[in-house]
Amino acid sequence: MKLSHIEHIGIAVKSLDIAIPLYEELLGLKCYAVEEVADQKVKTAFFKIGETKIELLESTDPDGPIGKFIEKKGEGVHHIAFATTQGLQNSLDELSEKGVQLIDKAPRKGAEGLSIAFLHPKSTGGILTELCENPSKQIVSK
Ligand code: ZN
Repeated sequence: MKLSHIEHIGIAVKSLDIAIPLYEELLGLKCYAVEEVADQKVKTAFFKIGETKIELLESTDPDGPIGKFIEKKGEGVHHIAFATTQGLQNSLDELSEKGVQLIDKAPRKGAEGLSIAFLHPKSTGGILTELCENPSKQIVSK
């Protein structure tokens, strides 16, 4: 598996209306996109720092993954996402062979047109880990 960079850090927040101005004023970053990902029951807001993004996540449903996370742990860092450049499915297959517990055995659609998949925190030292791939930037090599 080849990773190129940290694609984004996902942060669970209760309210984007509060968190977006906080990030803009505190860090001087500009929110460049807000997008709802119905599949994950979240509304996301993005900031860019170099090649890496900050993804703020507000739950649209208390029973969704972010709603449950905030109820249990409160607001804070939710996951770290790495960009893979060798095909997401290949990376998942490779990890699965190594015995890593996968939440997603196949890629699914994330925000910003990315293909994403989550690895189980049990296999990654307690950190919910996301792999993502930009289909338009994929380097096909084996
Ligand atoms: Zn993410």
